Amino acid sequence: MLRFEIQAACPVTGARAGILRTAHGDVQTPVFMPVGTQATVKGILPRQLLEDLDAQIILANTYHLFLRPGHETVRKLGGLHRFMNWPRAILTDSGGFQVFSLNGLRKIGEDGVLFRSHLNGDAYMFTPESTIDAQLALGSDVMMVLDECLEYPASHEAARVSMERTIRWARAGYAHFLKKTKGDDACFPIVQGSTFGDLRRDCAERLSALDAPGYAIGGLSVGEPRALSLEMAEISASALPREKPRYVMGVGMPDELAQYVARGIDMMDCVLPSRNARNGYLFTSQGRVIIKQAQYKEDARPLDPSCSCYTCRNFSRAYLRHLFLAGEMTFSTLATLHNLRRYLDIMREIRQAIILGQFPELLKAVSLPERDAS
Ligand SMILES: [Zn+2]
Repeated sequence: MLRFEIQAACPVTGARAGILRTAHGDVQTPVFMPVGTQATVKGILPRQLLEDLDAQIILANTYHLFLRPGHETVRKLGGLHRFMNWPRAILTDSGGFQVFSLNGLRKIGEDGVLFRSHLNGDAYMFTPESTIDAQLALGSDVMMVLDECLEYPASHEAARVSMERTIRWARAGYAHFLKKTKGDDACFPIVQGSTFGDLRRDCAERLSALDAPGYAIGGLSVGEPRALSLEMAEISASALPREKPRYVMGVGMPDELAQYVARGIDMMDCVLPSRNARNGYLFTSQGRVIIKQAQYKEDARPLDPSCSCYTCRNFSRAYLRHLFLAGEMTFSTLATLHNLRRYLDIMREIRQAIILGQFPELLKAVSLPERDAS
């Protein structure tokens, strides 16, 4: 069973530092989870995730693994940890978010969602029960229930109807999980309610009755203003049990991480650091570096002089720019290593500040929007 211990809490904000104990090791929170969509963090070896980044938990996408290679195939090969040779914790989503992103390829009913594979057009159905079965087959440490993800903007009535369905699906999925679990994993219900505070609060309070070991907050970062995402995260978190971990799905920019933590969030994930890395958009302690720019052509400095990642210890901006322009695979690896390291370092600094009672000062210092590095 997943356990969560709060080690320190900020008396001024809602920030907390804790430890999530999983069957595949401890996770220090607040934590940023690198995204390994297809059972790999693109461009990075598991060895680098362990040794260079010291990542304690990563995320994998059930939708993609359900379609290819198939969750039953992964189960036969010993589960996802063995399949991808990742010894530490894995969190999986339910697949719902991807399915709801398939415009025109899906149909929602009370039993679940019917969709067509983006790979070959084959029809499948995700139900609250089947998505749990798929995640159990993968051997995930932290699973998610199926939820309905609404587009932004949505009307209050549409958001209410959708939230009610999400609650029914959460109850069905969680009951199914309790029947099937062997006891060393966990399943999180997901708070929805679009951008309406009353719906968010209502959803969080009713899901709390399930007494799950943790809760996710979904449906954010779908096009709404950033201030609204933060407000919805705060309202949702404040209506969830204090002693359980809270996970906001799919956020955010580096300057937003501390903002979410300040609102009582313990876990986050986002494709931004890895996707932007491959596109040559790098996050540094001095601001962003768009590596293709001519100003870096003969720049012998490390990407980020204050970063101790493998990339920054060994290579110049000029070399990284050269690799990027030449379309070399090595660029993606070096850039992803750095961007993920930047995110994990920010979270480690935040955690340290909470423990030392210095989080409010850090929050003020780090919450400036990204600017260009000099
Ligand atoms: Zn670096």
